[in-house]
Amino acid sequence: MTGQSSLADGARRAYHDGMIQDDYPTLDGRPLSPESLMMSYGYDPHLSEGAVKPPIFQTSTFVFRSAEEGKAFFEIAMGERPRGAAEPMGLIYSRLNNPNLEILEDRLTLWDRAEACAVFSSGMSAIATTLLYLLNPGDVIVHSEPLYGGTDYLIKRILPRFGIGNAGFRASGRAEDIQTALAQPEVAERVAVIFVETPANPTNALVDIGACVAAARLLSTPTRRVRVAVDNTFLGPLFQHPLQMGADLVLYSATKFIGGHSDLIAGACLGPADLIEGVKGMRLMLGTMADAHTSWLLLRSLETLKVRMEAQAAGARRVARFLAQHPKVERVYYPGLLAPSDAGYDIFKKQCLSTGSMVTFNVRAMEGSDGEAEAFRFLNALKLFHLAVSLGGTESLAEHPYTMTHADVALEDRLAMGITPKMVRLSIGLESPEDLIADLGQALRSV
Ligand code: PLP
Repeated sequence: MTGQSSLADGARRAYHDGMIQDDYPTLDGRPLSPESLMMSYGYDPHLSEGAVKPPIFQTSTFVFRSAEEGKAFFEIAMGERPRGAAEPMGLIYSRLNNPNLEILEDRLTLWDRAEACAVFSSGMSAIATTLLYLLNPGDVIVHSEPLYGGTDYLIKRILPRFGIGNAGFRASGRAEDIQTALAQPEVAERVAVIFVETPANPTNALVDIGACVAAARLLSTPTRRVRVAVDNTFLGPLFQHPLQMGADLVLYSATKFIGGHSDLIAGACLGPADLIEGVKGMRLMLGTMADAHTSWLLLRSLETLKVRMEAQAAGARRVARFLAQHPKVERVYYPGLLAPSDAGYDIFKKQCLSTGSMVTFNVRAMEGSDGEAEAFRFLNALKLFHLAVSLGGTESLAEHPYTMTHADVALEDRLAMGITPKMVRLSIGLESPEDLIADLGQALRSV
């Protein structure tokens, strides 16, 4: 087991350098930590009767003081003219803007040091809306593999219907794999987006974000900029900051750690103001924004994000260590178990601030068995873990990627990426690690 603090020094330095920005909130010249700002940033209580928490603006539309005011709000919202220095961004209609959504978007920018943020009704709507904004017929999207099953389906089965090609590269930790995917002639000429999910769901495989950024820059021309978009759901927004490594956009299923209580579905996209403006334009027309109530719940969740993610990661370290020495466990996929000789080790050291709280493992299968029966016996025997898909919530969850979250992925791709019937994915919550280990131990006895 490698200590995460020594491993993550490079990534931590890069993040703190990125904090020194002109418009970042400071106290006596010192930048405030994002966790200090999660209770207040972007909200003025005196605009809402002194309420310490923002009320829920449960309304579809907003009243204009005059027809002239309504016209002015639309001119700005539709980009017909820039906003004057003292001119407010008027509230129009909740598909376009809503106070809860706007406060949430401002607060979320702080963790990633992003200029702007767009929040969505789900992680999938964030990814789909962003890709529809970035891609045109004839373009190719180059992507890491494995990807979350829904993203895999979108890229391989839906986008091709609109003339958008795809080329995958294995999240193997080797920069050559990215270069090989990009070197195919029909890809190099047409690539518009490099889409990366790291750590990858469900194998925790790592992709070198810096190498993707370097490749995108090499392939960009004055008329065609290749964009790098990173799904940061597994480690972000606390423990990995792709924008600081040169990525253009960072994406989240906010259903997971950002929401953190398994009681909402949401997504987010962050990046420079001009790109997010374009993404928001597409969101406006597709209607994929988050509603006021979901935004309010996410604001509540952000207040505890840091303590939750740190405690979950600490619990996961103990769970991973327990599984790694268990005779019924064949292999554990967890960044904290990478050895210096592993391909992902240097990437982890460079870009991750923590080992996170996702632990995947293979049960040891009997000879002649593909392992599904053993994995199912284990899953059915769990008492404290819930048998459910999703991740990042306060409760620990266990699932079977091969038949559940990744069932949509073509069989040969699943097997090639190591998503086999003997694989189990765990999301570690806030229960006592001793209790979780006791539950895993008793369930493994039934294998
Ligand atoms: N990205 C990753 C890495 C995921 O794990 C998921 C869902 O599990 C998604 C995107 C999709 O998010 P949502 O379910 O919020 O649409």
